[in-house]
Amino acid sequence: MSKLVSELDAYLRRLFPINRSITGNGNRDTLRILREIVPLTIHEVPTGTRVFDWTIPDEWNIRDGWIATPDGRRIVDFSACNLHVASYSEPVRGTFRWGELQPHLHVHPELPEAVPYRTFYYRRTWGFCLTRVQYRELEHLGGPFEVAIESELKPGSLTYGELLIPGESAREILLSCYICHPSMANDSLSGVLLTTFLARDLLRRGRLHNSYRIAFVPETIGAIAYCALNEQAMRRIDTGLVITTVGGPGRFGYKQSFNSGHAINRLIEEVFEERGVRDYVTYPFDVHGSDERQYSSIGFRINTATITRDKYYEYPYYHTSLDNLDFVSAGQIAETFELYRGLIDKLERERRYINLHPNCEVMLSKHDLYPKTGGGQVPKPNDVGRLDCVLWLLFHCDGTKSLADIAKSTGIPVDSMREAATILESKGILKAV
Ligand code: ZN
Repeated sequence: MSKLVSELDAYLRRLFPINRSITGNGNRDTLRILREIVPLTIHEVPTGTRVFDWTIPDEWNIRDGWIATPDGRRIVDFSACNLHVASYSEPVRGTFRWGELQPHLHVHPELPEAVPYRTFYYRRTWGFCLTRVQYRELEHLGGPFEVAIESELKPGSLTYGELLIPGESAREILLSCYICHPSMANDSLSGVLLTTFLARDLLRRGRLHNSYRIAFVPETIGAIAYCALNEQAMRRIDTGLVITTVGGPGRFGYKQSFNSGHAINRLIEEVFEERGVRDYVTYPFDVHGSDERQYSSIGFRINTATITRDKYYEYPYYHTSLDNLDFVSAGQIAETFELYRGLIDKLERERRYINLHPNCEVMLSKHDLYPKTGGGQVPKPNDVGRLDCVLWLLFHCDGTKSLADIAKSTGIPVDSMREAATILESKGILKAV
């Protein structure tokens, strides 16, 4: 077992049992443990704070929850599996007959042995999630049942973590993961751990070209709060990764960013090809999914992609108690980690320029970029010279395309483009973004 795998394994086992939600002490405990790995800052957003169209809700914490027979035998018990109580369940205590209890029970539609994961974030109610065996036993007994949910809903705050790693360039790359899922390993603990160890890897690199903005947020409302509280910085970001479901035993895949022609998608495919991952699944951008929905919204338009292994929605154990440490392993997460690290290598080497003279061509001869005698230039597709590189760079360098993108779209070797870009930069015509 490599050092990384054993570290991942230890943190998987420590973090898996913690009860997390969109708010609450489980999130704080999780972030505090992650702080042993990287120096992230923990922020609190108070209940009632408006974040765009949303409002931070009351904080939810839970001590216990159960359904028991009158003689005290607990048939469903939160302490055995925290998925048994639906997240954000309000407190309840009382005696219920089967007919009264049944509307509050949730079973998985397909997997009889699974406890499903259900939430009531924005609706005041309560519920239990259970296996079909447990459901049938309760139905058979018919009650009365002692029911308790010892939870608390009151003003508090939403907790998130943040780490900003400066590089030589002001260009920021967004890395985001969500910390709001209770005991499920692929969705989302695997992504939280991979992000943390990727952050540690970035810190250990020393010199970085890009700057990195790393967010550990509760899904949806946490990402929205993060965008609202960091609006100007987020508007400047062009490229991001939402890191989730990276630890299953199945096939690798990637969800494309909203612009399938964006460099991040090509770079991910290059990583797969170079590392021999041939049978990966490509998921085109879709308005369903994770926090790329917020980061890609009209106001931010960050091209956000995800490398995944057993993507959310796609594996049978998704949002159930079977998404556990038998399904996910540290070794599997470590394999996906290497793909993300390869992608970071590429993002670090990627260069973009902006043409400081966008209004028509610069006077090439004045800058010694044009042949001494005019009139003899006949473009030949198989004979690409300096002038071709210069003209294509002037045409494409609007700050959004990398040299590799321009090389690919023109069919000109990237080294020739790099050489021409260096000359144009020395003459003050192009500026590195
Ligand atoms: Zn989920």
